[in-house]
Amino acid sequence: MKAAMCFTCLLAIQSSPLPRPEDTEVWTPQPPVVPPGPFVPSPPPAGAIVLFDGTDLSNWVSTRDRTPARWLVQDGVLTVAKGSGNIETRRRFGSYQFHLEWRIPQHIAGDGQARGNSGVFLASTGDGDLGYELQILDSYRHRTYANGQAGSIYKQYAPLANPARRPGEWQSYDIVWQAPTFGLGAMVSRPATVTVFMNGVLVQDQRVLKGATVYVGEPHYTAHGRAPIKLQDHGDPSAPISFRNIWVRDLDS
Ligand code: MG
Repeated sequence: MKAAMCFTCLLAIQSSPLPRPEDTEVWTPQPPVVPPGPFVPSPPPAGAIVLFDGTDLSNWVSTRDRTPARWLVQDGVLTVAKGSGNIETRRRFGSYQFHLEWRIPQHIAGDGQARGNSGVFLASTGDGDLGYELQILDSYRHRTYANGQAGSIYKQYAPLANPARRPGEWQSYDIVWQAPTFGLGAMVSRPATVTVFMNGVLVQDQRVLKGATVYVGEPHYTAHGRAPIKLQDHGDPSAPISFRNIWVRDLDS
């Protein structure tokens, strides 16, 4: 009897393998390539909170320990200091409109997810990569899984189009984030929604998020309040991503 039970256990284990990262990769269909129009400057409107104006990182802290952010600021541009960890806004937000410009290095090397990987975590819910990630990656004539390319809500929604510019050119994200709300028992009462324009092209249209981003397994919600906006220092060895002209409009105030 004892031996039979063990055999049953083994069968159960074999029939439910551990989730793997590739289980949540979606490769087809690939979003249509939609070359964007010329780059249009988008200075902060009146009342916007300027998070990076090209001069300093006073509005940003290290996610790891909330000490002053240690990424590089030079010639009006913010660049990831590889290995220094993610940075996030000192201020916390609920729902907001957000503008950010980013640039893949001109001579980017690497493949797959190791080619100019960074990201915007729309609400940072903890250290590391906890939160909801809008992916940044070199997606100019470069194929990866559709729900992991630039403009994707990582491993939840592929972008509606691929308007990527070539490496070395500035690109933009304009985001409307409606934060999730939580009720009794920390259950989600209203899921987060997000709309994203990449280089002026709609890539996410009022998407209802399934939860926070995970690399392995299915996304799920964990209750949180107002949260910082986080930029990713991805661990791959490709050259670092740069940013400029970052501003936000708080939609709760
Ligand atoms: Mg990323």
